[in-house]
Amino acid sequence: MNLQRKITKVINHFGLNIVWANNSLRMWHPTSLTIHREDPSEALHELAHYLCAAPERRRRVNFGCGDDYEYLQTNQERIISQEDAQEEESRASFLGILMERELGMDWKATCWEHNWLGAQDYRLGLTSIKQAGLMKHVDQVRRMARRWKS
Ligand SMILES: [Zn+2]
Repeated sequence: MNLQRKITKVINHFGLNIVWANNSLRMWHPTSLTIHREDPSEALHELAHYLCAAPERRRRVNFGCGDDYEYLQTNQERIISQEDAQEEESRASFLGILMERELGMDWKATCWEHNWLGAQDYRLGLTSIKQAGLMKHVDQVRRMARRWKS
């Protein structure tokens, strides 16, 4: 099974759909991600955002975290504090990276891209994921990846 198919299965597992697009425009939809077909890392990052957001914010544009310059929409409503939104961005970043690792992707490149630069950063990221009760999602992805190997 190729990587795109695996990521699609992971995203479907968490109740979302994904459209693999040929252009780089990201369209927001509450239950369907549109991701460039050559950016699988971004697909897991957006899934991680969904999983990090409180359920009542999951259907809001950018999960109620305010503007995201990568989306088409601008001036989106932020319904949590700027500080909480930044913390959630950071948590989503590391959660996505942990899922990439389970799928055998180049997670270290994403660490570099997202500014997680060393062991101390990794420990902080991991602590944040554990404290937020998000490791169960990584475990689910690990179990799926193991099934595909056997
Ligand atoms: Zn993000």
